[in-house]
Amino acid sequence: MSELKSRASTRIPKRVQDAREPLTRSEIMRRVKQKNSGAEVALRSALHGEGLRFRLHRRVESIAVDIVFPGPKVAVLVDGCFWHGCPTHATYPKSNASYWLPKLKENKRRDARQTSLLEQAGWTVVRVWEHDCIPVKQTVVARIARACGKSTPCNGENGKRL
Ligand SMILES: [Zn+2]
Repeated sequence: MSELKSRASTRIPKRVQDAREPLTRSEIMRRVKQKNSGAEVALRSALHGEGLRFRLHRRVESIAVDIVFPGPKVAVLVDGCFWHGCPTHATYPKSNASYWLPKLKENKRRDARQTSLLEQAGWTVVRVWEHDCIPVKQTVVARIARACGKSTPCNGENGKRL
């Protein structure tokens, strides 16, 4: 394998660091429709650093998938902590529970539905929490590499393990 850019997987772009700051509701609304979230960009960069090659934002079984490996049929979806109901970070304005809760319940139902549709069509689905991408956890990269049939992801030209 030729030049792997090992540094790409360890450096966090400035935009990603911003995601650690508390978000206002309008910022959240803006982010939910975003294709290239900071978490997704950071994950892509880490995967690329491991020599993995993929397609972006493809429709698979009419589901919008963030990162697609067409050969091994692996679909990676990066789930935002807020909208997908992360057990650690999903906290909602209590005053509007009747507004948020049904929405979030429906999101979770949709996630489960989409996962099973993809699996029925022969895809391996890897769902990744946004918080595991800021910064990108090596276990996440390894999980995706394994799903793609690469058991031990290499870590750049010096062969260093993270
Ligand atoms: Zn989270």
